[in-house]
Amino acid sequence: MDYILMGISLLLVVFIVFVVYKTSRRSGIQEGQEAGKKNQEEFYFREILTRDQEIKDLHYKIDNLNELNAQYLAFMFKVPTVIQRLNSTMRGEEIISSVIQLIKDIIPTDIVEFYLYNLSDSTFTMISPDRGMNSEMHSIALGEGIIGLAGKDRIVRINGKIHKTIADNKGSLQSESDIWMAVPIIFRERLLGVIGIGKTRKLAGNESNLMKMIADIAAVALINQTMLGEAKHRANTDPLTGISNRNYFLQMSQTFVEKAIRDHTLISIFLFDIDHFKNYNDTNGHDAGDRLLIDLTRLVSGITRKSAVFARYGGEEFIVMLPGISKEDALIYAERVRDKISQHHFPQREKQPLGYVSVSGGVASFPVDGDSIVKVIQLSDAALYEAKAEGRNQIHVYKPYHFSEEIKAEEHTVSAIPDQRTTL
Ligand code: GH3
Ligand code: MG
Ligand code: MG
Repeated sequence: MDYILMGISLLLVVFIVFVVYKTSRRSGIQEGQEAGKKNQEEFYFREILTRDQEIKDLHYKIDNLNELNAQYLAFMFKVPTVIQRLNSTMRGEEIISSVIQLIKDIIPTDIVEFYLYNLSDSTFTMISPDRGMNSEMHSIALGEGIIGLAGKDRIVRINGKIHKTIADNKGSLQSESDIWMAVPIIFRERLLGVIGIGKTRKLAGNESNLMKMIADIAAVALINQTMLGEAKHRANTDPLTGISNRNYFLQMSQTFVEKAIRDHTLISIFLFDIDHFKNYNDTNGHDAGDRLLIDLTRLVSGITRKSAVFARYGGEEFIVMLPGISKEDALIYAERVRDKISQHHFPQREKQPLGYVSVSGGVASFPVDGDSIVKVIQLSDAALYEAKAEGRNQIHVYKPYHFSEEIKAEEHTVSAIPDQRTTL
């Protein structure tokens, strides 16, 4: 019996121990589970925050990309029109104002400044398209300030100030403009200028790329304009003396004639030729002859009004078109030219047959002597021929024959023929 009781007690103890163990284990698991759950919640919370930040960052990036996209799109849409405008103009100011407008349309900035580079003195001059060359502003040297440095180093420069001296009635005044970015304009190693822009109201990040592309567009437009200008100048200019050539003279005569007809005014033509120029060349050499041609054209240019067109018509033959000048006044001017040349101490002038350098000339006018400039040139050439025949260093005015003189001339010709026949 005792054994039975002991057995039961033992079983009871075992059972109680088992229950206590199980209960304590279950509560331990529960505690552990709760702690784990908390950790997990914290983890998820942190994860959410991170994701949130990432989403915000992505939104920001998307906004930024949209901004960039909008700028590139604006650029792409505007470029064809701008290029078309640039191709259809030869005027430097128009090129510059189109480029400035393109920048303002794409980049939100209040300051856009355009500087052209002057190769002759290594300086930059700011060009305001509305006012042309900004002569009030002193030029910027290569390497000076952000503009000068961008030009010197030929790279995009960011942040810097530029000092300007603006002259006004009270003297000179210091002013400063904030150029945030300066971009050089380069065409095949040749520095043409620099574009400066102020700080942008909203930074997109692609400003430097866009500005580089715009500077390239400006470079092509400027070089086209320069090359076309140079080609035009070459086509119209005599390479030795630098004055206009026959081609330009004849081209201009059309315009002058149209204006003279409209305004009922005259155009006088003065044609002159150096006397015994072959002798000058033979005596002093061809180079000295060239020098004489250059010096003589300078002398004549100095006493010729700006409204006239002075051109080299042939080898040592020159022509002056004098709009609005009567034949009498043209003769006064021509005499001044002849006198000035004959008085001038050209090198070796004493070796010329007359003892000095001289010219002979002829004067005729449109429309009184001829109804076209070509005709008037022929008539002044006839007068020049007379001046040569009568001893040189003189000016002859074309005199129209009177009817009676023409009859006399005809009679003379008719009577001369039988005489010639008799001599044969
Ligand atoms: P005239 O008084 O009758 O005009 O005699 P001329 O010797 O001036 O005229 P001619 O027609 O006999 O000679 C003109 C000379 O001008 C011949 C030519 O070699 C020279 N000549 C033409 N163009 C140039 C040039 O560009 N440079 C030089 N050095 N000589 C030139
Ligand atoms: Mg001659
Ligand atoms: Mg001649």
